[in-house]
Amino acid sequence: MLNILIFIAGTALAVQAFIGLTYFISSVWEKGKRATVFGGLQFLGMLGLFALFLYLKASGFFETGPGLVILVGGVILGALACFLLLRRTAPNKRALEGTNGLVTGEAKRYDEREIVFARNRCLAPGSEQYGIFYREHPEYEEYDAARRQKGGPLGIPGTIDQPGHGPNVAATLGSVSIPVYLSAPDKYNPLAHPMFGGKKAELSPGEAAERVKGYTLNLGADLVGITEINPSWVYSHRGEIFHKNWEDWGKEIQLAHRYAVVFAVEMFSKMVAAAPHTPTTIESMRNYAKGASIATQLAAFIANLGYSATANHLRHYDALLVPLAVDAGLGELGRIGYLVTKELGPRVRLGAVTTGLPLIPDKPVDIGIEAFCRVCNKCAICCPSGSIPSGDQAEVNGTLRWKLNEETCFAFWGKIGTDCNVCMRVCPWSHARTFPHKLIVELVSRNVIAGRLFTVMDDVFYGKRPRPKAPPGWAKFDGEGR
Ligand code: SF4
Ligand code: SF4
Repeated sequence: MLNILIFIAGTALAVQAFIGLTYFISSVWEKGKRATVFGGLQFLGMLGLFALFLYLKASGFFETGPGLVILVGGVILGALACFLLLRRTAPNKRALEGTNGLVTGEAKRYDEREIVFARNRCLAPGSEQYGIFYREHPEYEEYDAARRQKGGPLGIPGTIDQPGHGPNVAATLGSVSIPVYLSAPDKYNPLAHPMFGGKKAELSPGEAAERVKGYTLNLGADLVGITEINPSWVYSHRGEIFHKNWEDWGKEIQLAHRYAVVFAVEMFSKMVAAAPHTPTTIESMRNYAKGASIATQLAAFIANLGYSATANHLRHYDALLVPLAVDAGLGELGRIGYLVTKELGPRVRLGAVTTGLPLIPDKPVDIGIEAFCRVCNKCAICCPSGSIPSGDQAEVNGTLRWKLNEETCFAFWGKIGTDCNVCMRVCPWSHARTFPHKLIVELVSRNVIAGRLFTVMDDVFYGKRPRPKAPPGWAKFDGEGR
């Protein structure tokens, strides 16, 4: 019996020290100075404990009365901690219902003309559409005009990485050219290749779902899911125009498709780590370009199978992708106002294809985000424009959620000349998925107590307000480290 207890205690201490070592290595790789120091101390502490244990065993201490009490007490305490932290706590039934679980009343469809991007990008002062829109929405006119005077969010004079931001802005705009090119109607709504002649492929919904998801991953997506489209998340009217097809502006969007294939692409953690500086905007746009390319190819693939399909990407959206992604089981809606995934946290960009191809939908997931975000407030604390609510969820347009203030957020982008992403950088779920972080996510996604413990540990190891880190050398910027 004594040998069994010694084996259990020794193995547990060795495993702890090994995890401590992997955390230290991961922190060095992440270039987190504070995490490296704390990780190093933690590893040394665990190693010291293991060495002490080996010494006590060799000296026969555990065969004495006090030694046996300490050994038994330690094993019981360890078993209790494992039980408390490893068991699956009660599931969040609301999360398992997807966006239906958030609905508290009638959700009015959003009008794309009203969103801040459409107002900023598409309404040219003096144009017919400008007159129509601001006659109907005088509340926005003065505010939008003042913002337009300051310029758009990319690299405008006076922004944080001046004067040396030129190469990074050039890289960002290099990527933007892809979604712009793919926003012509014949690209986002492709016809079947002539060799298929519109003949419908004979595929069961199960096989079609398997092929479509496999193809999407093969194109470079990191996560993919399928949902039946909830009409509440389809925009009511078209507001973004990029190829002078102004006859579409203000038209009601009538989506005939029943399904959406939604996918996420990963933002590289070392580029996001520099947020709010220009490298993070390069990374956003790289992934929007990647998403546009994937969505366009996927839509063409489905068109070749004989079914209508529409690519949704940075320069063409028929629907809001975050709620569709929640319903497709890619993750949950966090305090941050974005999708938070188990695999990559909020460090993703989304794309989608809507289609009439019959498919088997996926189910929404409970990964513990709602409970975690209730305790963690990091994105709200660190948001430089105060755009993220710090209290409880509130009812917004018939849904209960944390609502990001996109007006103040976008205004901040215009002020600094990047798309900020500080909230994404500081979120504890955004850490690169090295071995110890995968382990932590596994724990916090199934256990509420582990979630509470790790919100505190994240503050200790990374700070309550983590600072930006240097990006890879090729994306360096002036004023680094400010
Ligand atoms: S992007 Fe920046 S300004 Fe916008 S919500 Fe996130 S932290 Fe706040
Ligand atoms: S920073 Fe914290 S509160 Fe904000 S989304 Fe991430 S986990 Fe939730």
